[in-house]
Amino acid sequence: MENQKNHPLPLSKGLLRTEDLYTYILETSVYPREAEPLKEIRDVTFGHPQARMSTAPDAGQLIAILLKLLNPKKTIEIGVYTGYSLLLTAVNIPGDGQVSNLPTLYENEIELSNSTHKDLQIIAIDPDREAYEIGLPVIQKARVDHKIKFIESEALAVLDTILENGENEGQFDYAYVDADKGNYRNYHERLMKLLKVGGVCVYDNTLWAGTVAMSEEQTPEPMKAERKAILEFNKALAADPRVQLSQAPLGDGISICRRIY
Ligand code: SAH
Ligand code: CA
Repeated sequence: MENQKNHPLPLSKGLLRTEDLYTYILETSVYPREAEPLKEIRDVTFGHPQARMSTAPDAGQLIAILLKLLNPKKTIEIGVYTGYSLLLTAVNIPGDGQVSNLPTLYENEIELSNSTHKDLQIIAIDPDREAYEIGLPVIQKARVDHKIKFIESEALAVLDTILENGENEGQFDYAYVDADKGNYRNYHERLMKLLKVGGVCVYDNTLWAGTVAMSEEQTPEPMKAERKAILEFNKALAADPRVQLSQAPLGDGISICRRIY
């Protein structure tokens, strides 16, 4: 039908054409409002060979609003690195924010039910503990480490273990995914079970430095494989009736999904 066609927009809305405009946004609206501990995480990450992997602060600002609206009790973080997005989650979810007398958990084993950790709210998964330990002192100083259980592992195995007995289905309010792009579809399938209806998951890097709109030839060699994975993932999300979707062109692109059923 005529009105179902994707007509070209009368005006291009692709405003973010220059680095200067991005810098303007960061300097005007983002950095002046960025919480001190988040700045500190960026500081301690600065100079690390993979520092560009951290979640962009402008994307973080929108995620913070989502978290405040959602008020999530239980969350999952896939891909921690030095912890920018993890800390962002920890400071924006409810909780007393007091120092816990319990040490930060570091176990590899997964014991989620019967946890004695009453404040525990975030399951954070990453095989790279060294990177997590770069940001951990900042997380501790911000007095939110008691909300976090860090699991040093590949994420897929952990998600499957959490799903094993069925008890954890529909128990999570929020998830942030920022790990290996080739597994985003696999993570999404698990999260559609773990999230409650109305729960939200956010995927980072879904515009992959703009390469999603480039040809294969134009794409720098090291970005090709993940570009392909992201292209397939974006298509799958757009066709997924289980979620309400918004692809927000903040940072490197974040796709926000709300589970509908
Ligand atoms: N969200 C982080 C950035 C994550 S960078 C921040 O805001 O700073 C991507 C991370 O994914 C890396 O730390 C990497 O170790 C981790 N990763 C890679 N493969 C993974 C996997 N299979 N499961 C979980 N994490 C993985
Ligand atoms: Ca990222």
